[in-house]
Amino acid sequence: MFSGQKQGLVEVADGVHVWLPPDGSWGWSNAGLISDNGQTMIVDTLFDLSLTRTMLEEMERVVPTAKEHVDILVNTHANGDHCHGNELVPTQRIIASIATAEEMADLPPAALGAMVRGFENDDSPLGRYIRHAFGAFDFSNITMTMPTETFTKNMAVTVGDIEIELIEVGPAHTGGDVLAYAPSRGVVFTGDILFIEGTPLMWAGPVDNWIAACDLIASMDAITVPGHGPISDAAGARAVRDYWVMLRDEAKIRYEAGMNVHDAVRDIDLGSYADWGESERVYLNVNALYREFGSTEVVEDVMELFAEMGLIWEERS
Ligand SMILES: [Zn+2]
Repeated sequence: MFSGQKQGLVEVADGVHVWLPPDGSWGWSNAGLISDNGQTMIVDTLFDLSLTRTMLEEMERVVPTAKEHVDILVNTHANGDHCHGNELVPTQRIIASIATAEEMADLPPAALGAMVRGFENDDSPLGRYIRHAFGAFDFSNITMTMPTETFTKNMAVTVGDIEIELIEVGPAHTGGDVLAYAPSRGVVFTGDILFIEGTPLMWAGPVDNWIAACDLIASMDAITVPGHGPISDAAGARAVRDYWVMLRDEAKIRYEAGMNVHDAVRDIDLGSYADWGESERVYLNVNALYREFGSTEVVEDVMELFAEMGLIWEERS
C-alpha cells in the first residue's frame, strides 16, 4: 500500500491526472491522463483488460469525450504492465520509441499467461514467486495493439495548448524507455525509470544511461510520476540515482575481486534500500551490472533470474 497517498484517478496539475493502483509492486503500474481544450492523451495502459477498463471508466468520468476518442496514447516502454490494455483505448495514434515497438512484439500476452498457468500447482520457490508476482492478473484475450508512430530521441506533441516533450532516455530499464514531460504543467511521467518505494530493475541497461535519466528528471524539478509507486518529485529521482550509483560501485568491487553474482548479491549491504519493496530484484540488477562489466558467467535465462529472485524473496520474508 502506498504511504499516505490516494488511489484511483488523482489530479496533480491543471488538466493532468494520474492513475494510482493499490500498490506499486510487480505489475501494478501507474498511468496518466492529460487533457486540454477538448484534446486528450493517455500515458500507458495497464497489465490486463479488466484493470485497464476500470481505469478508462474513471478517466471518462473526468473527460467524457475520452469514451469516444482519445487523441494520443503514449507507451513509455514495452513491459506488458504499460501496454497490454492498448486495444481498449479509442485512438488512431499510439506513440512509442522504435526500440519499444520492437520489444512489444517479443513477449505475447498469451505466452505470459501460459507461463503463469504452468506454475499454478508448482510448489518450488520459482512457482511461488511467479504466482506472487503475476498471479493477480488475467492475461487472456489480450490482443497486443502496437504503436502507429515511432521515434528516436525526441518528439514533441500537443494536447490542446499543452506541449509535451517525449524524451527517449533508454536503453536503461528496457530498450526504449521514454519520458513524457509537460513543462507548462510541471509534470513528468517517467515510466519505469522511476520506482518509488520499490526497487528498480534493469532489464536492459547500461546503468549510466539510467543514472543520466535520473539526473535529467531531477533537473526538471517537476511533479514526478513514477511507473510504480507514489507520486514524487526531484528527490524521488535522486533516490533512484543513488541506488544505482551505490549498486554499480558495490558490484564492481566484488566483480573485480572475483566474486560471483550469487555471492555478491548476498554480500552487498543494501542499507536503507532493503526497505524498498521487491529488494530481491538486486539479483537481476547485479547480474545485469556484471554483464556490463564483461562477465561471461551471468544468467541470461529470464526464468532462472526469477528463480534466483524467488530464493532471495523467501530468504528475506
Ligand atoms: Zn512497470
